[in-house]
Amino acid sequence: MNLDDMYRETILDHNQNPRNRGHLENPTKSVGLLNPTCGDEIALDVQLDAGKVSDIRFSGQGCSISMASASMLTEAVKGKSAEEALAIARNFKSFLTGTTEPENLGDLEALHGVSQFPSRVKCATLAHNALEKALDDNQPQT
Ligand code: ZN
Repeated sequence: MNLDDMYRETILDHNQNPRNRGHLENPTKSVGLLNPTCGDEIALDVQLDAGKVSDIRFSGQGCSISMASASMLTEAVKGKSAEEALAIARNFKSFLTGTTEPENLGDLEALHGVSQFPSRVKCATLAHNALEKALDDNQPQT
């Protein structure tokens, strides 16, 4: 199995067995975002406890890239501090535009091929933008 096949398998696996899909009962933050170019819709429920992403769920519908990316993202940030989670979302976005090496991205690295298709980058980053929106105002004031 070559590397591309392995990446494809990983994306397929997240589509067929999405991680952390659903809703939280009392989320600290709930953010919905739309990608009109493709028609992807994603809602993120985030539970923050003592500055940590103690739980996270995603819901919505869209293409396989957007759904796999959301599933991978929830897995990558669960249990991380809000700062670490934000860093992961930002690292992924600059990783896709080819400006950064991946850090702590886990399965998200499998989406690197998307960078060759600018229109699909919006699909892959939708959940990440939602997470940034959810966590941004939790940044300590400086
Ligand atoms: Zn899409």
